[in-house]
Amino acid sequence: MSETTVRIQDDLFQAVNGEWLKTAVIPEDRPTTGGFAELDQNVEKLMMTEFRAFAAGEKTSEIPEMKYAVSLYRKALDSEARNAAGIAPVLPLLERIRALRTPADLNDAAAAFLEDGIRLPVRMSADTDMKDALHHAFNITGPDIILPDTAYYAKENPAGPQMLQIFSGMAAAALRFAPLTEEEQAQYLADTLAFDALIAQKVKSQLEWADYTAAYNPMPTDEAAACLCPLDLKKILADLYDGRLPEKVIVNDPRAIREMSGYFSEETFPLYVHWCYVRTLLDSTALLSEELYAIGSTFRRALMGVASDPAPEKRAYQVASRCYSEPVGVYYGRTYFGEEAKKDVVELVRKIIATYQLRIEKNRFLSPATKEKAILKLSTITVKMGYPDAVHPFWSTMVFDEGDSYYEAMTKLSRIRRKYILSRLYEPVDRSIWGMPGHMVNASYNPFVNDITFPAAILQKPFYSIRQSVSENLGGIGAVIGHEISHAFDNNGAKFDENGNLANWWTESDYEAFRLLTKDMIEQFDGIPFHGGKVSGELVVSENIADNGGLGVALEIMHTLDEPDFRAFFINWARVWCMKAKEEYILLLLNNDVHSPGELRANMAPRNFSEWYEAFDVQPTDGMYIAPEKRISIW
Ligand SMILES: [Zn+2]
Repeated sequence: MSETTVRIQDDLFQAVNGEWLKTAVIPEDRPTTGGFAELDQNVEKLMMTEFRAFAAGEKTSEIPEMKYAVSLYRKALDSEARNAAGIAPVLPLLERIRALRTPADLNDAAAAFLEDGIRLPVRMSADTDMKDALHHAFNITGPDIILPDTAYYAKENPAGPQMLQIFSGMAAAALRFAPLTEEEQAQYLADTLAFDALIAQKVKSQLEWADYTAAYNPMPTDEAAACLCPLDLKKILADLYDGRLPEKVIVNDPRAIREMSGYFSEETFPLYVHWCYVRTLLDSTALLSEELYAIGSTFRRALMGVASDPAPEKRAYQVASRCYSEPVGVYYGRTYFGEEAKKDVVELVRKIIATYQLRIEKNRFLSPATKEKAILKLSTITVKMGYPDAVHPFWSTMVFDEGDSYYEAMTKLSRIRRKYILSRLYEPVDRSIWGMPGHMVNASYNPFVNDITFPAAILQKPFYSIRQSVSENLGGIGAVIGHEISHAFDNNGAKFDENGNLANWWTESDYEAFRLLTKDMIEQFDGIPFHGGKVSGELVVSENIADNGGLGVALEIMHTLDEPDFRAFFINWARVWCMKAKEEYILLLLNNDVHSPGELRANMAPRNFSEWYEAFDVQPTDGMYIAPEKRISIW
């Protein structure tokens, strides 16, 4: 045994993944590899072969929308046509922005801007009403900032100015293609940065967004209209909905909306126009020539530490599979997952839900009244497994003309999507919609619908395989299923009832006990140093509660097996979180991601369970030991 061998009792993640980490190479066009990312790379490779065959006419699909996906793929591949057009396709859009002289001009154009994806001083959307999950509400949110979080704008953060410099270089390079004088180009860029700096003082930080129930701030439409002035909310709503105005709107970040005059007024209007021009130009570069594409991806690549853009063929696949995500996901699911496997995993989910109920029944901090409500919520969770039985009718509206250029096709599709989202306002919520497509390596819980989604692509090794032992599958997909169920009861999910409404179903003292436990969870992670940064316990608390609940329920099932292998269970748990990432990306995630780094997910959650200590005889002198009184059990 070499001296460098890491003991599993000291560092589960390194002991399991260390060898792999030494030699693993992160692809040039990605920020990470391993675990989720590696599966994603494999799915991409597989589906690229499929698209190549489709495009060559070697095969066809019975899913009608796949025809459009393949047509879009072909258009994306045609760089000659894009290069010949240069910046020309986006010029009419930019001219509409440049023509704005007064807020009144903007108010006349605003409804059309919303449908065309041109940025207004606030974002607007029709989404599920958190307190009435069967209906939609009109949501208003402050605008996007350039940097990933408001914290980057703090004086003491050197990363902010560095990143803004990279952004400025990118914007200046793109502006050289625009029909503007050199003086105008400089002015537009300076105004963009000035407007962004004003916005950054008002909008929410990522930490504030992590408490997503705090986004629910109903406001009478009249009051919101007064806040937004000189932007004319009532006119925009009337233009969008044939004169029909909702009585209330939901304000997602009240500071930005209430203090909008701090960044948008008659005086700052020219700043807004130039900000809008520059950001629209940059938003469009991905649809233009190769040269503009390369310029437009600079900032994103720098943020993630990614050296190069994906090769053209990969990009074409990524665009097509993103624009037609559900049809592509159904194709993937039917071809590579199938009904048999679907039934198999649904059965596992049922078993995990039943075991979860047992755990709630014997839970020690809840009163019978709250337990009953929790079990009601648990038993009504809808399971969306693998891929939908049929492609949702929406996708049949995602059409373009065969003769369209790539730019025309893409802008048509974006417009259809945006119009669809806005048009839902007075329609009932369609709860059959899937949150993730079948070819995505991920899983999710939606508190507004009380459903869990497991795309087919995550249902493979190391998460799940019939060639893995039951213990390994439980340490993989079992814990992940338990994780998603636990989101129904994390610090955010616990505020929603079984119908997906933001409604309190807790007794006061039970909720207080729960709140104290979530505080313990915040403290368990807060301030852990990681690659030169630090974990924010508050930012990642919901995911850590979910990991804790997921491991708990999977371990409970382990005890019912004839021959449970707890070592195999924990080893596979660590395999699932195997990840190697670019340093820039690690720091980006530490600031912005509600998930802890994979290494910490692998190493922290097991310490809360006695099974971990028994499986590997972990002692107080070992790195992965915590005293029994510090161990946290919530669900
Ligand atoms: Zn999660």
